[in-house]
Amino acid sequence: MQSAASAARSRPVIGVLALQGAFRAHVRALAELGVATREVRTPAHLEGLDALVMPGGESTTMSRLLTSSGLFDEIKARVHDGMPVFGTCAGMILLAGEVLDGRPDQRSFGMLDATVRRNGYGRQVDSFETDLDVVGLDTPFHGVFIRAPRVEAVGPHVEVLARVAGDPVLVRQDRIMAASFHPELTADTRLHEQFVALVRREQDQEQ
Ligand code: GLN
Repeated sequence: MQSAASAARSRPVIGVLALQGAFRAHVRALAELGVATREVRTPAHLEGLDALVMPGGESTTMSRLLTSSGLFDEIKARVHDGMPVFGTCAGMILLAGEVLDGRPDQRSFGMLDATVRRNGYGRQVDSFETDLDVVGLDTPFHGVFIRAPRVEAVGPHVEVLARVAGDPVLVRQDRIMAASFHPELTADTRLHEQFVALVRREQDQEQ
């Protein structure tokens, strides 16, 4: 049997949505921080999870697979009940309240009070890298943007943690963090660390 101490050490368990996209890099970043992870492909995989990461990839494909796997409604209910979630790139699109230039049948969870435009940086600069000044970090964070969504508006309860040319690229709303770039594709784990700290704070409050 697991001792109470080792059970406490194995938490939190953070799920990484693994239907499609760059999920392995998130698993690696979290593992580097010593956090237990689980790849999420079915509703059963959500059992006992403390938080969820939604990776970059293709939001239209993920939307379709979320519905066919039965995960869409289950995740929506869990996040509604307070489960922290971190969405990056396509993951941010999935969280947004309003998606512009999406496919007509594309679904989003609507939990982040933001309007995002898919592929909103246009063709010429559809992929770019730039150093970001992030609230709470002493030195810049290197942002990798790949056909990134552009955040065109955020609601009053959304805290903007970083911007590019005035547009929010990293935001937080309660227990939701979202980045229009890919923090999992650099060796810098500071944003994952911030998310894990948020998850631990939630756990402490529950006890
Ligand atoms: N353009 C993609 C989409 O719609 C997102 C790109 C990414 O996640 N790197 O969904």
